[in-house]
Amino acid sequence: MLESLRSIVQQVNSARDLTAVLDIIVRRVREVMHTRVCSVYLRDKQSGSYVLMATQGLNPSAVGNVYLAPGEGLVGNVVTRAEPINLEQAQAHPAYHYFPATGEERFSAFLGTPIIHHREVLGVLVVQQEEKRRFDEGEEAFLITLSAQLAGVIAHAEATGALAVMGEQRREAKFRGLAASPGVAIGRAHIVAPLANLAAVPYACCMDVEAELVLFQQALTGARDEIRAVGDRLKGELNREERALFDAYTAMLDDSSLAVEVTARIRQQLSASRAWAEVMLEHVRRFEAMSDSYFRDRAADVRDLGARVLMHLHQQQQSERDYPDNTILIGEELTAAVLAEVPRQKLIGLVSVKGSANSHVAIIARAMGLPAVMGAQELPYEQVDGADLVVDGYRGELYVHPGRELRRRYDSIVAEERELERNLDHLAALPCETADHHRVRLWVNTGLMADVVRSLERGAEGVGLYRTEVPFLLRDRFPSEEEQREIYREQLEAFAPRPVTMRTLDIGGDKALAYFPIEETNPFLGWRGIRVTLDHPEIFLAQVRAMMKASLGLDNLRIMLPMISGVGELEAARKLVQRAYTELLDEGFKIAMPPLGLMIEVPSAVYQVRELAAQVDFMSVGSNDLTQYLLAVDRNNSRVANIYHSLHPAVLRALREIVDTGHACNTKVGICGELAGDPGGALLLLAMGYDVLSMNATNLLRVKAALRAITTAEAQELLCKVLAMQCPEEIEATLQQTLKKMGLKALLQPQ
Ligand code: PEP
Ligand code: MG
Repeated sequence: MLESLRSIVQQVNSARDLTAVLDIIVRRVREVMHTRVCSVYLRDKQSGSYVLMATQGLNPSAVGNVYLAPGEGLVGNVVTRAEPINLEQAQAHPAYHYFPATGEERFSAFLGTPIIHHREVLGVLVVQQEEKRRFDEGEEAFLITLSAQLAGVIAHAEATGALAVMGEQRREAKFRGLAASPGVAIGRAHIVAPLANLAAVPYACCMDVEAELVLFQQALTGARDEIRAVGDRLKGELNREERALFDAYTAMLDDSSLAVEVTARIRQQLSASRAWAEVMLEHVRRFEAMSDSYFRDRAADVRDLGARVLMHLHQQQQSERDYPDNTILIGEELTAAVLAEVPRQKLIGLVSVKGSANSHVAIIARAMGLPAVMGAQELPYEQVDGADLVVDGYRGELYVHPGRELRRRYDSIVAEERELERNLDHLAALPCETADHHRVRLWVNTGLMADVVRSLERGAEGVGLYRTEVPFLLRDRFPSEEEQREIYREQLEAFAPRPVTMRTLDIGGDKALAYFPIEETNPFLGWRGIRVTLDHPEIFLAQVRAMMKASLGLDNLRIMLPMISGVGELEAARKLVQRAYTELLDEGFKIAMPPLGLMIEVPSAVYQVRELAAQVDFMSVGSNDLTQYLLAVDRNNSRVANIYHSLHPAVLRALREIVDTGHACNTKVGICGELAGDPGGALLLLAMGYDVLSMNATNLLRVKAALRAITTAEAQELLCKVLAMQCPEEIEATLQQTLKKMGLKALLQPQ
């Protein structure tokens, strides 16, 4: 059964469109389960009814003509119960509803399972049998498993089909994702396709067919040369079978029929990449469908070969890339390096199919003030290249081909935003103090040089977190000690005499360096942050030395260690920092030892604040990671994003305990997670007594406006109230009401 399941899912996954998906399902399920009928009903978005969309065994003319409302007939009952219905004799059931068009009166046994996607019943999968018998447990389990696996594919295929129709008619289409960075962007989609993924090559036309043909031939030649060269190099190390594979590859590239197929499509004005991808995917599918396992395995080779040629095509096109004004980048998984490729003045928004609001790329988007939607799983992103788009980073929604009315609505939100920014501008020069004159330090989180200017304009009093990995992410090798010194010097100089807290390299998790890949099944619990750099003291020492050298004559450097989970790691890191310092003194540098701090972002550190505080000069809470580890919710996973809450009562209690214990040890405690940049969250952190709130420059003035409007006593009363609450939604609503009552409704997201 497992083999059948896998092969159905695999076949469905490579189907072209929804009709093909449904056709494969009904055909293969009927065959594998040896039933007389298999049908799929899908929800019609407009009427809310469930329509017979595909069948094997019922009258084909009934397809598209049988509608059942939730609760109506057996199918409608599967929908309302959201559970399977398994009957020996369907006609005997009180809910049975006979549709003459189907010819189903001949069938007695009925098994229907719901197809559920994101808690909603998308459709129903039904099998029927002539004889009077109950489907057995194994059959029921099989159909349930299959429905669960197919739900995502069907949802995606539905969205793709809808978009294709809407694209032809230029009709508005709406997709949901997660609100990842506030604001609205109205612009044009630019797809970032993974370099070598055949299935992700966007549909694109070419204007100059002859030039495109040349490009294609060059890519073929490039790939052929490369394969030959690799084959020659490895000659001595390969056995006969493996050598034959290289020969098969080159033979396939030499195969003129392949080139003819691609050329024909290019002549129809399809881009070379898309034409190549389409042809190769057809070959892959053909191999995958073969019954002989040897040939099935060759599908992977064809895919690999396709990817190689694609890489060559991309390399040639790379230099010709031209970004439109108002570029909205769309990709399956965007990275910081991709963002950096687009000229800043042209980039206005981001959309990513994977990831969540707490992914690092979302954090960078917020820091850059770019509206972003993450986790837009249903978006057929390969099909929207060049389309007009509206990105609503407040609600996590996006619109493809927006109509005039929608644009007007969003234009007015953009205008309101600008107005709010203007109204907050005057706060930049005012001190950050509460209504009863209690001073709060408002610092910024930086990473890019662009953050510096925005931070200073907004009156930042220091840097609470400089993410040093950002410049590492933007390169194709580790920067040398001298290169790092120059980068760090720029930051330190720009803010001097204000303090700049530089965090040592925090890679791993969702921050992968292309030139230092870390492949793990569980990256957030794996080799991350200080764990990597302690294992590579040469990287750590070069970085710390570069930071210290950069601070020469400025003395505004603070060094901070990420992901500390126990005293042992702290001691090891401190020894290295001390060693770097002594080395530099020996080399004649006249610098003061910078204050050393650590981040509290792992639960074990929460319970060791006392011991850790004894060895450092300051602490800063990384509430982004602390939330993910306390709640056991991967911050990068859009499927569980709805249960990632930095305002969860457990997180708030931990935050209070950290600051109380830190202060009892006479250690200053700050916070640099995203919670600090949330106006409501900042009120609670003020009440808890946090010494420094560090946030992205975009939110600095909003937080200042909130803090200046409240007294410490009022904030403490609010904290008392929310600490008695049990669920994060209630806490969130209370904070919003408070801001409204304070006359700060404008700081909330537009409704
Ligand atoms: C955090 O975890 O809260 C933090 C500030 O670090 P980062 O988001 O870079 O992991
Ligand atoms: Mg962190």
